[in-house]
Amino acid sequence: MRSVLITGASRGIGAAAATAFARAGCRVMINYCSSTDKAEELCDRLRKGGSEVYTIQADVSRPDEVRKMFFQAEKLCGGTDILINNAGIAQTKLFTDITDEDWNRMISVNLSSAFYCCREALPHMIRQHFGRIINVSSMWGQIGGSCEVHYSAAKAGLIGLTKALAMEEGLSGITVNCVAPGVIETDMISHLSSEDKKALMEETPTGSLGTPEDIAGAMLFLASDSSSFITGQVIGVNGGFVV
Ligand code: NAD
Repeated sequence: MRSVLITGASRGIGAAAATAFARAGCRVMINYCSSTDKAEELCDRLRKGGSEVYTIQADVSRPDEVRKMFFQAEKLCGGTDILINNAGIAQTKLFTDITDEDWNRMISVNLSSAFYCCREALPHMIRQHFGRIINVSSMWGQIGGSCEVHYSAAKAGLIGLTKALAMEEGLSGITVNCVAPGVIETDMISHLSSEDKKALMEETPTGSLGTPEDIAGAMLFLASDSSSFITGQVIGVNGGFVV
């Protein structure tokens, strides 16, 4: 049975991934930062469905907390076979209004966290000559989003990390890929008005917004044995918004 650790998994895309991997028969570790109740609720629900599921609290933008999280993962599951770097934050601001604090927080939560998690996860993966790393970027990291320069830069950075690490780990049986979601109905876009959402839908060739389950499906594929020859890639799950 493979063990998967999903960061920021108490809600949204991360929670959908936890559910999909639990249903697929994996041992699931749900990382959360502050939403203890939500994480425990999800964990209980999945356990009732017969899955082996754990919660691990950690702020993944902090290397000391990430180190402790992987220590716990080792104790609970013997290591992490599949790592999904999903935790993220977004912010809409004019470039000239972005403060040093905004910039540093954006980079540390969306990009440095993946560096810290990959660094802790890799020794186990290298030892067993198997691993799957899936980084959650964004279509804005591919094409740039206006008023989201810091978010776009962090998500583009994740794509660079993915490609370079994939090259380095190719001979170790470890694949490293990105999923780049389009506009997905989660709390992250709850600040958008219904008019904004309608406009985004109209801009999307499928005429719809995506669901967290759409992203979880791509993650399951990238974690499966069927994808062992796919590494260093960015899989857009965006309804054709970016082609
Ligand atoms: P969300 O806000 O529901 O989920 C983000 C999760 O990350 C939350 O559970 C949050 O608590 C967690 N998180 C934030 N900071 C953390 C930290 N320091 N440590 C641990 N956990 C932390 O939004 P979502 O849409 O489910 O986002 C999941 C990922 O998908 C993010 O990386 C986001 O950038 C990316 N994404 C989302 C969309 C979208 O339209 N929703 C589009 C492209 C990419």
